[in-house]
Amino acid sequence: MASLAITRRGFIGSGGALGLASISPRAMAAVLDPAPTRIYKGARIHTLDPAIPSADAIAISGSRIVGVGTWVELKALASARTEMIDLGGQTVVPGFNDAHLHAVGESLLGDVLVGNPFEVEFPTIESIVARLRERAAQTPPGRLVRGEFYDDTKIKDGRPLVMADLDKVSTTHPVIVTHRGGHTGVVNGFALKNAGITRDTPNPFGGTYDRDANGNLTGRVTDAALNFVRDAAKEPDLSPEQLRARAIAGQAKISQEFVRYGLTSVCHTAPGLVAASTGLADDFAAIQQIRREGRLLHRVTYETSGAMLDAMIANGIRTGYGDEWIRFGATAEQFSDGSFSERTMSRSTPYPGRTPPYYGNIMQTQEGLDALVEKQMRAGIQPNFHANGDVAIAMVLTAYERGMKLLGPADRRPKITHCTNVSPQLVARIKALGAVPALFTSYAYYNADKFHFYGAEMMEHMMAYRMLIDAGVPVCAGSDFPPGPFAPLMGLQGMVTRKGWNGEVWGPSQKITVMEGLKVLSSNGAHASFEEDLKGTLTAGKLADMVILDGDPASVDPEKIKDIRVQQTIVGGDVKYKA
Ligand SMILES: [Zn+2]
Repeated sequence: MASLAITRRGFIGSGGALGLASISPRAMAAVLDPAPTRIYKGARIHTLDPAIPSADAIAISGSRIVGVGTWVELKALASARTEMIDLGGQTVVPGFNDAHLHAVGESLLGDVLVGNPFEVEFPTIESIVARLRERAAQTPPGRLVRGEFYDDTKIKDGRPLVMADLDKVSTTHPVIVTHRGGHTGVVNGFALKNAGITRDTPNPFGGTYDRDANGNLTGRVTDAALNFVRDAAKEPDLSPEQLRARAIAGQAKISQEFVRYGLTSVCHTAPGLVAASTGLADDFAAIQQIRREGRLLHRVTYETSGAMLDAMIANGIRTGYGDEWIRFGATAEQFSDGSFSERTMSRSTPYPGRTPPYYGNIMQTQEGLDALVEKQMRAGIQPNFHANGDVAIAMVLTAYERGMKLLGPADRRPKITHCTNVSPQLVARIKALGAVPALFTSYAYYNADKFHFYGAEMMEHMMAYRMLIDAGVPVCAGSDFPPGPFAPLMGLQGMVTRKGWNGEVWGPSQKITVMEGLKVLSSNGAHASFEEDLKGTLTAGKLADMVILDGDPASVDPEKIKDIRVQQTIVGGDVKYKA
C-alpha cells in the first residue's frame, strides 16, 4: 500500500507556503510539474512510519518525499522528467539524528589528534609523542601545543600518558593533552611551571593537580585545575580573520564528517561552554557562512548558552526559531553533575571499591536549578540539563516538575542530556513530565573498557534504553562527541548487543531491537526538537532526509551492524555524501 493520496496535495501545499520567490529553480520546476524529480526503486526501505513500515520504492520531489510504496504504485507518478534509480536491494532508512554533541570541527583540523575521533584505535605513546613533537617544531616557543582525543584506556602501552612523556615533546612549550571526555588532561612540566604550579600548590576548588605517592606532580590535571593550566597557556597568535577562517573551515569539515556517517540532523551544543579556554571564534556565524556557500550538508539545531542565550531571552527568541536548516533548539547542556566515562557522575550509592566512599560530583544546588529552569521555561526555551547520575537526574526532574507546575500544562519536552543512571521511579517521573532523555549511543561499544569501574549491577541501570522505551518514553540519541564517536551504526550495534569492542557485555537487560534503535536514532530525535511533523520517518510530505546502506541492520549479524557502509546520505532530496 502506498502513501500517495496526501502526496501531491502535501507537496503543492508546502510549495505554496514557501512562496515562489524563495525556492530554487529545481523546486520551481517541481511546482510546475508535480511529478517526482526522482524515484528510487529496488530498495529495502524501513520507513519507521507505522502506516507503511516497509516499502521497496520512494519518490522525491524537490526537498520532500512525495510517495512511499511499491514500484508498481509509484511509477504511475512519474513524468518524462523523473529520474529512476534502481538501488539493487540496498537498504534505505530515515536520516540519522544526533540530539547531543559538540561540533568541534576546528579541533579535527587544527589540533594534534592523539586518538582516533571516530573508531576504536590504540596508538602507542611513542607515536603520540612524535606527533606532538612535530607540531612543537612548527610552533613558536612559549605557545601552546594542544593534543586532543586522548583516551586513557586506549593506549597500546597499557598505561596512561604522564608528564615525563610530554617533557620529551618540549621543555619550551606548554603541551596539553586533553582526554576526549573533556574533564581531565595530561600536561608537561613547562605547562605547570607556566601556570605557577609547584608540588606545594594546593588543589583548586573543583579540581586536582594529581600527585604520586611521594607528593610529586604527575602531570594529570582534572576539571578546574585543567582550566587553570589551559588559561595560563598562550595560544599561537592568530588574527581575527584567521580565527574566523578557522571556524568556517572547521564547520565545513565536521559537516562532511556527519554526512559521511549518515547524520542528517544534529543538535550542536554551543561551544560557549569551552570558548573561553580554547579561543574558538563564533561558530554560529561560521555555520551561517558555510550555508551561504552551499557547504552546510546537515541540518543544525543550535543549542546555545551564555550571552547568546541571555540575548534570546531578552529579545523573545524562542526554541524553534529558524528554518529547516538552522534553528534554535533547547539550551546548551547545563551541567548538574560530573562525567560517566571519567567516573565523576553523582551517585546515591558509593562507587564500588573506593575508600573513603565516593559519591561523585554535584555541580548545582536545587535552588540554582529551579531558577534556571523557571527562567528558561518562562521565555519559551526548552531547558536542557546534563545529568548522568541518579542524584542529579532526580534534582533536574524536581526543577522541571516545579517549572511545569508553576507555568501550567504545555508541551515543553524538557531535555535531559545523557540521563545515564535511572531507576523505575525516575523513569516514571520522566514519562509523566514528557521529558526527552538523550542517551549515550556509542558508549556501549566504545567505552566498555570503563564499565568495570561501575560493575555489573550498576550497569543494568545505565543507558537504560529498554526501561525507558518500555515505559513509553521517546528516548533519543546523543553521542556527546568528542567523548563518544558519533557513528550512528556503532551506536545502534551497542544498543542492540550491549557488547563492547573488547567483547565485554554490560547491562544486557537494556538491549533493544534494531527497529527500536532506528527509532531512537531518527524519529525520537525529531520529537525531541519538536520536528516530528517534518522529519524522522520516511513519509510522504516530510523532508527527503535518508540514508542508503549497503546492508540491512535488521538482518545482518548484530555484531556487524557497525560495519555496514553508508553508501549515500540524502538531505532535502540532494545527495550530500556518496561513498
Ligand atoms: Zn556534552
